[in-house]
Formats: sequence, C-alpha cells, structure tokens
Amino acid sequence: RAKADGRNTCRFFESAMSEDTLSNILLETRLRRAIPNGELRVHYQTQHRLADGALTGYEALVRWQHPDDGFLMPAAFIPLAEETGLIVELGFWVIDAVLAQQAAWRAEGRPLVPVAVNICAAQLRRADFLPRVRGALARHGVEGRYLELEVTESMLIDEPEAVMTLLSALREDGVTVAIDDFGTGYSNMAYLKRLPIDTLKIDQSFVRDLPVSRENQAIVRAIIQLADALQMTTLAEGVENEETRRWLVDAGCDLGQGYGFARPVPAEALEHDYA
Ligand code: C2E
Ligand code: MG
Ligand code: MG
Ligand code: MG
Repeated sequence: RAKADGRNTCRFFESAMSEDTLSNILLETRLRRAIPNGELRVHYQTQHRLADGALTGYEALVRWQHPDDGFLMPAAFIPLAEETGLIVELGFWVIDAVLAQQAAWRAEGRPLVPVAVNICAAQLRRADFLPRVRGALARHGVEGRYLELEVTESMLIDEPEAVMTLLSALREDGVTVAIDDFGTGYSNMAYLKRLPIDTLKIDQSFVRDLPVSRENQAIVRAIIQLADALQMTTLAEGVENEETRRWLVDAGCDLGQGYGFARPVPAEALEHDYA
C-alpha cells in the first residue's frame, strides 16, 4: 500500500516537473522573441532627496507585455533570463531604451536626471560591455552622468579586478555606480573601499519596519555610517510611509525610493513638473 502510494507520489511529481520544464521551454522561446517583437517595457520609479522630496533620479525597471500571459513582472522572467543567458541582450536592450527615452525627454526640453539601470553579472563579464554602453551613450547623445549602473555585492566579490577596471573606465565618462540591495549580500569591506562606488542602496528588507524594528534601525545606521566614512551616498529602498521617511532623515540617509513617493510607471505617466 505504502509502496503504491510512493509510486503514485513519484509519478505525480515527475509529471509536475516535466510540465514545469515544458512551460519554461515555452517561456524561453517567447522571451527570445520578446525583444524583436517589441514586448518589453521600461517602467520608471522616482528617487528623491529624503529631506525635501526633490526628484534626484529614476530607476528603470523592466516589464514584459506577454502576448498570452499579460503583463509580467521581473520575478516571472528575470530568473529564467539569467539561466538561459538571455539576460545579456535584455540588459543591453534596457540601457538602450532608457537612453532613447532620455534623448526624447531632452528633445521635449525637459531637464534630465540620472536614470539607474540594473546590470547583471553575465553582462559585466562580456568583453563588449564597455564599448556597448559607450556606443549607446554616443548614439543617443546622452552624457554619462545621466546613467547610473546598479550592481550587486556578489558581482563585486566574484570579479573585483574586472569590475574595477570596467567601472573605473565608465566613471571617466561620468557614469555613476550604485550597489543594489546593499546589506543582503556578503560585502568585502576592502573591495568596497577600493571600488568606484557612488551610492549604497539600502535593501528594502531593512527599511520596511524601520520605525519599529530595533534591529533594522541598527543595521541602517551602520550602513549610513559606513557610507559616510567612504564618502558614498545612501539611498533607502522601499520607503512606504512618512514615518519611515522622517526616521531616515533623522538618521542622515540622503535619498529614498518607494511606494510612499511613487510606484514604477511608464515614461508617459511620469509627472513632468517634478524637477
Ligand atoms: P530592485 O532593483 O531592487 O528594484 C526594486 C524593486 O522593489 C522593484 O520591483 C520595485 O518595483 C520594488 N519597490 C519599489 N518601491 C517599493 C516599495 O515601497 N515597496 C515594495 N514592496 N516594493 C517596492 P520590480 O520592478 O518587481 O523588480 C524586481 C527586481 O527585478 C529588481 O529589484 C531587479 O533586481 C530586477 N530587475 C528589474 N528590472 C531589471 C532589468 O532591467 N535588468 C535586470 N538585470 N534586473 C532587473
Ligand atoms: Mg535595482
Ligand atoms: Mg534593490
Ligand atoms: Mg531587489
């Protein structure tokens, strides 16, 4: 009896797995076509000076307008894009789309603010990373200072020398660098000192319960202190309410981003008189 049940369980498990694999293959096939088919979208979330709410920049966040499955958030396709290597082309597409948008804003006479783009490890490992980013800036006539690259702690640890060379070169063009989700990875303090980092983005898991969590308060204070010592800017992710904003101002955090300011929206939906 138990044996039969076991077999059934096993068979059920196998068929569930193969369905999962099949749907992943379908998803991969469609994701491959998503760029040429024009199905990817960039949404922009505002970043603000915490003290007075002034707009300081945007973060570009990719979405996928899937022909059958509707509007997909990054969690639904970024992991697969990373596994299959499609993330590299997707990532370059986002940079290009953002710079095209910046050029369009400039043509409308809007003052530009920096836009932060998420970069993945596979992209940084590409030999053509630097020329492609520079080429995109030149093609759209956008100065490097209007582009920020968001990298993660693990990317800095895995290939410190390569990352150092790349980021230093881009910095000469004015491109700035932020460490995303800071505090969730394993940061090597020695690299942190040597790498050309402008901004530490404090992960939202530490920001969410700030007004009540003693632990998060201690962590956020430590990150702000570290950033001050290294002359880096701090940006708190996931600022959802006024209480959190005020706590962060008192603690000396510079910038913030989160639903309390604005949700990510398409470029057309951004309010034009922010800056
Ligand atoms: P991330 O770079 O840390 O982006 C911040 C995420 O937090 C975004 O989720 C944003 O919508 C969400 N968020 C912002 N404010 C709040 C808030 O107040 N509360 C809460 N609960 N969430 C908030 P999203 O857009 O779903 O993106 C998730 C992740 O997907 C990003 O995390 C990033 O790691 C990745 N991603 C997004 N776009 C790209 C891309 O173009 N390339 C790559 N490689 N990864 C991307
Ligand atoms: Mg990010
Ligand atoms: Mg983040
Ligand atoms: Mg994150």
